[in-house]
Amino acid sequence: MDDCIIIGGGPAGLTAAIYLARFHLSIRLFDCGSSRAAQIPCTRNHAGYPEGISGKELLARMLAQAEKYGAVREAAEVTSLRVIEGGFGVRVGERELAARTVLLATGVVNNRPDMPRALHDDALARGLIRYCPICDGYEVTDKRIGVIGTGSHGVREAVFLRGYSADVTLVAPEAHQLSDEDGATLDEAGIVRIDGPCGAYAIEDEQLAFDTAQGRLRFDSVYPALGSKIRSGLAIQVGARGDESGCLEVDDHQRTSVPGLFAAGDVARGLDQISHAMGEAGVAATTIRNLLAERKPIRR
Ligand SMILES: Cc1cc2nc3c(=O)[nH]c(=O)nc-3n(C[C@H](O)[C@H](O)[C@H](O)COP(=O)(O)OP(=O)(O)OC[C@H]3O[C@@H](n4cnc5c(N)ncnc54)[C@H](O)[C@@H]3O)c2cc1C
Repeated sequence: MDDCIIIGGGPAGLTAAIYLARFHLSIRLFDCGSSRAAQIPCTRNHAGYPEGISGKELLARMLAQAEKYGAVREAAEVTSLRVIEGGFGVRVGERELAARTVLLATGVVNNRPDMPRALHDDALARGLIRYCPICDGYEVTDKRIGVIGTGSHGVREAVFLRGYSADVTLVAPEAHQLSDEDGATLDEAGIVRIDGPCGAYAIEDEQLAFDTAQGRLRFDSVYPALGSKIRSGLAIQVGARGDESGCLEVDDHQRTSVPGLFAAGDVARGLDQISHAMGEAGVAATTIRNLLAERKPIRR
């Protein structure tokens, strides 16, 4: 039995791998290669990199650091999890591996506007589509900003971005569904609201253009506020508690409601940020180490 199997090799999983490997524990890390961090063209709010760093480069550095201490990242998807005597059975392809503890660091997947993938990825690379106002709202200061969304989630995102620019438009993917209170909030903030349906997306003159019910609009940057899928299915499978969106409930040591199962990063409820994912993983890894030491002293 391994001491810990880490599922997910984004900032949370890799931080945990660095800590756990340096605790001299036997670990495995599985990752199916779709970290949200890998989509970041250049993060400028992550501390320690004054000129910014691309998400891929940051992940590569973290992996190199984990490997230096003996951790191995296996490129494979974990397809199921079950509780067994003394730990967990972790299914990877034809194999079932056993571990005393499991750390779930599987992240989330953003729902995207309905557009061709190549166009989406090109627009993302150029900063014409953005997903994280906390991370990169600064970069759109005084720009013309579109938010695709509606309801209180869309309103919250638009109001947040109003802190960066006076030119914010909330476009519904179809037609707006807004409470009177949400409508009043938008009016008070001076945020324009426009109905969809959104379509015929294209990059035109270094702006993202698309059709709406009120004609074709162009923005310097567009933030989809369409929610996300939480990759917590493996934990839910073994009975871990999540909120209505699927985000895992954890205590302040990153313990889920299932003994021995930990969660860190975007998959757990909290601030969806690299620094937060790393911090949670550090807490989880140290708690895992101390839990294992209680069962059997760790000695060289
Ligand atoms: C466009 C964009 C820009 C962003 N910019 C910033 C920024 O500037 N600053 C900032 O702090 N944050 C930024 N973020 C948010 C940041 O990327 C996330 O908060 C961070 O990546 C969360 O780390 P994580 O390890 O929890 O999840 P992820 O990075 O998403 O990693 C999860 C990993 O788990 C793997 N996985 C999932 N399921 C399985 C499975 N069953 N088996 C094996 N592997 C699995 C996935 O393949 C993935 O590699 C941005 C996000 C996006 C999308």
